[in-house]
Amino acid sequence: MAAPEIEKLVTLLARLPGLGPRSARRAALTLLRRREALMLPLADALAKAAAEVKSCTICGNLDARDPCGVCADERRDPTQLCVVEQVADLWAMERAGAFRGRYHVLGGTLSALDGIGPDELGIPKLAARVAEGGITEVVMALPATVDGQTTAHYIADRLAEAAPEANITRLAHGMPVGGALDYMDDGTIQAALKARRPV
Ligand code: ZN
Repeated sequence: MAAPEIEKLVTLLARLPGLGPRSARRAALTLLRRREALMLPLADALAKAAAEVKSCTICGNLDARDPCGVCADERRDPTQLCVVEQVADLWAMERAGAFRGRYHVLGGTLSALDGIGPDELGIPKLAARVAEGGITEVVMALPATVDGQTTAHYIADRLAEAAPEANITRLAHGMPVGGALDYMDDGTIQAALKARRPV
């Protein structure tokens, strides 16, 4: 039985995605062994990120400033808006470097089972943003899951009412079923964006 300080560390690490109890234990031991080189800088980075990183009030991206770097960048194309499920998907799109517009991060998909409705995903805010004008194309880059596609169709219907002049497209489904953007290589994202179709 390890000391309670270690047990607590392991329990918290085990909650991270991809880390089970075994790998959490190994991670905790590595941290304790590499106190100066790894553990203290990590603790410092965690505290700084917790204090300074926030959600962008315009798009939902995570950044130390609000509006985020993408929203604040004047060189981005203001006529193009890409709707993604998670911040990780926004980052994947940025890594692929194929999209030069701005984003809207939903933070999830519609799910009656989990009680996630349009308000929880900021869909009224998205509709208002597009209705303001200036956006000519909304690209749906949502997962090819049932929930993802239900959400895309719901948003398309809402936007057709709120901003009928905006074209609504979706990424081509060259992507794996249920695949999240974050797991796709840059080439696949670029191809899916290039071959996008009307919803
Ligand atoms: Zn932003």
